[in-house]
Amino acid sequence: MSELIQIVYISRATFEAGPRENGVEPHVARILLKSRQNNPRQGLVGVLFYGDGNFFQCIEGEREAVESLFTRISADSRHKDVRVLSVRNIEVRTFNEWSMKYVPAAREVMMTVKAFGFDHFDPYRFNEDQVAEMLALLQRISDPTLGRLNSAAPPPGEAHDFMGLTYLALAIATLALAVSCINLAMTMEWL
Ligand code: FAD
Repeated sequence: MSELIQIVYISRATFEAGPRENGVEPHVARILLKSRQNNPRQGLVGVLFYGDGNFFQCIEGEREAVESLFTRISADSRHKDVRVLSVRNIEVRTFNEWSMKYVPAAREVMMTVKAFGFDHFDPYRFNEDQVAEMLALLQRISDPTLGRLNSAAPPPGEAHDFMGLTYLALAIATLALAVSCINLAMTMEWL
């Protein structure tokens, strides 16, 4: 396994924000759906925040996968002025439960932004500490889209759990079958 990294970047949406559907701007909803389809296959996790026309995204996973996705994202015409705020090595994925968590411009975020001294969400003015605080906040706030915008594919941890349980059930069924065969053979005095 190659090293795990975390990248945090910001960008400005190029689209005109449409009326929210189920609490999510429609362009953002499409990006989330695609992320939740693609990311589990690459073992990628993270969080996406969209507020005041700006994105703040954190992506975690193996270096190659993160870099390849970031190259794709950078070329996406739905946003511009992509600026990397930090890239660092990590021991474990901190957004492990989400293929792409979504946090809307919730009250907690806007209060934090105000405490930073800004009147709207402008991550281009964040300093290093504010970036770290924003990330910690995004960890804590719950995702209102969970269960509504999920793709069929579960995040990597869940995928492993599901496969593990399937193999265990299969092994138990095989064992039960073998025991029944031996019992039958003994009853019929074949053994
Ligand atoms: P397809 O979905 O088949 O797309 C093919 C091409 O069409 C791509 O070049 C794509 O950029 C472009 N495209 C698709 N839909 C639109 C549209 N509505 N408007 C303009 N161009 C479009 N993708 C992820 O997989 N994981 C992420 O975590 C992720 N985060 C993103 C965050 C932001 C802020 C943005 C703007 C995009 C993000 N994307 C993410 C989308 C990413 O940029 C690519 O569009 C996507 O990964 C391509 O998926 P695909 O290879 O399955 O191609």
